[in-house]
Amino acid sequence: MHLQLDQARNGPLRWRDAVRVAAPDLRRDEALVPGSVDCEGSLTFTGPDFLLQTRLRYRHRLRCDRCLTPYEEDVDLPLAFVVTAGGADGPAAAAGSGDAHGAQELEPEDLSTLVAVDGAVDLFRLVCEQVELNVPMKPTCHAACRGLCPRCGIDRNREACTCVAESVDPRWAALEAVRERLTDSLT
Ligand SMILES: [Zn+2]
Ligand SMILES: [Zn+2]
Repeated sequence: MHLQLDQARNGPLRWRDAVRVAAPDLRRDEALVPGSVDCEGSLTFTGPDFLLQTRLRYRHRLRCDRCLTPYEEDVDLPLAFVVTAGGADGPAAAAGSGDAHGAQELEPEDLSTLVAVDGAVDLFRLVCEQVELNVPMKPTCHAACRGLCPRCGIDRNREACTCVAESVDPRWAALEAVRERLTDSLT
């Protein structure tokens, strides 16, 4: 789906769409969003730019960084962008005169800028990018996840193992490695 900037010149353009984001679209093996992304929003002409406000709602499927178990999580993501006409559109491309009229309320420095291509915003690409950006660096199934035992690999959320609880805190693991190296060099 493409949002044509011209359609918003005489009043806000509103839309609502269900966007399917398949695994290959994100260059992934597994689907990140098994269902579809509910995407609604509005495009408002603020002159010379546009304000794009949208809200993405979906459920994504992640793998816990600690216990490696897949889990799903609901996402509700409000977003706003300044859209500049840019691209091959002659008049808008030449209008970079530093004229900030009408921009005060938008505080454009707080908003990301999108450059429209051929007078349109590619909504599908936008949704793909945002869904990817919203994947946490270290996904965790729940805050209290106990993870896998670093020695025997057992899922400590389900079972207890008999490994000595020396290195429960991962911060000690690095120290322990140093200690092992030291002992090795002494013998
Ligand atoms: Zn977990
Ligand atoms: Zn263990």
